[in-house]
Amino acid sequence: MKALDELTFDNRFARLGDAFSTHVLPEPLDAPRLVVASEAALALLDLDPAVAETPVFAELFGGHKLWAEAEPRAMVYSGHQFGGYTPQLGDGRGLLLGEVYNEAGEHWDLHLKGAGMTPYSRMGDGRAVLRSSIREFLASEALHALGIPSSRALCVIGSDTPVWREKQERGAIVLRMAHSHIRFGHFEYFYYTKKPEQQALLAEHVLNLHYPECREQPEPYLAMFREIVERNAELIAKWQAYGFCHGVMNTDNMSILGITFDFGPFAFLDDFDAHFICNHSDHEGRYSFSNQVPIGQWNLSALAQALTPFISVDALKEALGLYLPLYQANYLDLMRRRLGLTTAEDDDQQLVERLLKLMQNSGVDYTLFFRRLGDESAALAVARLRDDFVDLAGFDTWAEQYKARVARDGDYTEEQRRARMHAVNPLYILRNYLAQNAIAAAESGDYSEVRRLHEVLSKPFEEQAGMEQYAQRPPDWGKHLEISCSS
Ligand code: AMP
Ligand code: MG
Repeated sequence: MKALDELTFDNRFARLGDAFSTHVLPEPLDAPRLVVASEAALALLDLDPAVAETPVFAELFGGHKLWAEAEPRAMVYSGHQFGGYTPQLGDGRGLLLGEVYNEAGEHWDLHLKGAGMTPYSRMGDGRAVLRSSIREFLASEALHALGIPSSRALCVIGSDTPVWREKQERGAIVLRMAHSHIRFGHFEYFYYTKKPEQQALLAEHVLNLHYPECREQPEPYLAMFREIVERNAELIAKWQAYGFCHGVMNTDNMSILGITFDFGPFAFLDDFDAHFICNHSDHEGRYSFSNQVPIGQWNLSALAQALTPFISVDALKEALGLYLPLYQANYLDLMRRRLGLTTAEDDDQQLVERLLKLMQNSGVDYTLFFRRLGDESAALAVARLRDDFVDLAGFDTWAEQYKARVARDGDYTEEQRRARMHAVNPLYILRNYLAQNAIAAAESGDYSEVRRLHEVLSKPFEEQAGMEQYAQRPPDWGKHLEISCSS
């Protein structure tokens, strides 16, 4: 275990130079204090969990102090927002403090979000509010615990700094961690500003640091792009299988590592709804739940366009062609597991689609359905779940097909089935209303609910004693919360 002043820095992105980022010092928050910290993320830096409670922790991540080896830099990038190109987007309120490597030799970017203005702030104030910082913290750690690749969050630091959104709120900072903060929009920036030399440097940087195995391939850049396509197909399959709606899939929010990145008005589905739109400024539903699949491909095409100086158009098209079949295979594999199936049959896709249609029509809770399906034998479980459906005849038909399918699947005990299904079907997810409760308490100075919720969500598959209230459908007030898009 290390003390806070023993972190080891190796700032590889900063060394790319001023064409890629600008040196900016964090603007300190007033009266910085710890709201919540992630023990699991602290462990990635070999830090003892107790360090989070020390005053110097809040000072470091609240912008008051810096390590001598930190090199705070605001990164430059652009991107497509809602389908239209914006020549310069960021980073308007984020600072890469530096890259720290742990005893296992892994590099982690330490990134402050909400640390004040940068040369890329445009009309913004460089700040982030407490509510959006808590949401990012909870979501990134919860996704990770579900096995869905995501940026991580070390802590949220709250403050007395006033920040104006629709009303006056308080400023906060999330310390975000990732192996890289490079987005599709970084490549787009150098492509559209016609800076081929810098773009080549960026491509080399990403290849060397994050896709070294692609070096061995005859066309390393193409191999790297293929890998990015594959990772995104796998990521989005997980979002769809677990009901995660990102909400703002602009290309500046897409990571070159294929991890969930940049949290805004995201939501996990409560009732299953393929057409769900979590972002209230998304009037066309561009980023609706089911559209995430084609939008993933659209975003990869935008990245492909920016890579045309390095890779032939035909090769790029061929690589893009991998996306949909890979997505479908990954998604079906996950859904089979969620249904407790261990083998594959041709009709499984239809079995899943029919179930989702029934759930959609009856507004069935997406998470609890799968959890309960694994509670007991298939026959007993479907008999008990039947009441949740309006179209009883439709559900009965599905249930007969499902039971027959389970019988063909294999011979296992109820206990084996439960263990296997509960290991992939969470009991606890970050429901919007749960986040909202935690935020309301935190805004009045009580951080215990944020901490408890974080704790519960860190073991989403394990039933935890006394935590029943976190495994319920939302109450009426919490069903259709409008999450403010300002952050
Ligand atoms: P987002 O929609 O949160 O992904 O943000 C898009 C870009 O706008 C990012 O580069 C952000 O850094 C920037 N941005 C968002 N909010 C602010 C703010 N309050 N001040 C400055 N820049 C911001
Ligand atoms: Mg963003």
